[in-house]
Amino acid sequence: MRRKIVAGNWKMNLTPSEAKKLIEAFRPQIDSDEVDVVLCVPAIDIVPVVQALEGSTAKIGAENMYYEERGAYTGEISAEMLTDAGVSYVILGHSERRQYFGETDQLVNKKARKAIEAGLTPIICCGETIEQREEGITLRFIQEQIKSAFSQIPSEDAKKCVVAYEPIWAIGTGHVATTKQAQEVCAAIRKNLEELYGAEVSEAIRILYGGSVNVANAAELFEQPDIDGGLVGGASMKPDFTQIVHFH
Ligand code: PEP
Repeated sequence: MRRKIVAGNWKMNLTPSEAKKLIEAFRPQIDSDEVDVVLCVPAIDIVPVVQALEGSTAKIGAENMYYEERGAYTGEISAEMLTDAGVSYVILGHSERRQYFGETDQLVNKKARKAIEAGLTPIICCGETIEQREEGITLRFIQEQIKSAFSQIPSEDAKKCVVAYEPIWAIGTGHVATTKQAQEVCAAIRKNLEELYGAEVSEAIRILYGGSVNVANAAELFEQPDIDGGLVGGASMKPDFTQIVHFH
């Protein structure tokens, strides 16, 4: 039985003092023994959020990292910096990073391998544009993203990864995918993973849905057989998040 994950993605929102305030308001309500709750926050918020969450069951995630260990990479953050600061998850290949910062499947794969080596759990994002969906190439496109992202990742490491299916047309738009659309793609992703690693591994990997998740739609989405929780953007900074965490 896969344990559900509810992960928030704050994106480029909330200063360190705003972050601290929000966590103080959320704190008792985001503890859970049943679901893994993860808050993925801007790099500068990591330390105050880790401190504010001391003693909580909620985990901290980063929104990005670089694959080199150290050196002349001005502005970048390494996996080791993240683990040392108390981070346990990292979002990789979010569509906003692909769109605005030119991240490729190959780069996402390098980052994923480094994250795993450092003991971080990567949340590997994939998802199609509206044009690709209308063209009928969604499943083929996502299959390629998955194949590239997992390249050279052995089975025992693949098992620990998390995949987030986030249709680009549903992110921040209020146009949530229907449960049927979301389940169809998540099931196809599991099939892709089965082709790469076999059934035991694909059944162990957690696949999240992301894209306009809110209090009203979370439970139905997360109860689909191949959806193991959600990656929540906008709603993760609202009191709604405390309800989404306890969706069932
Ligand atoms: C996201 O940022 O990954 C996301 C899904 O955003 P939203 O929930 O706001 O659509």
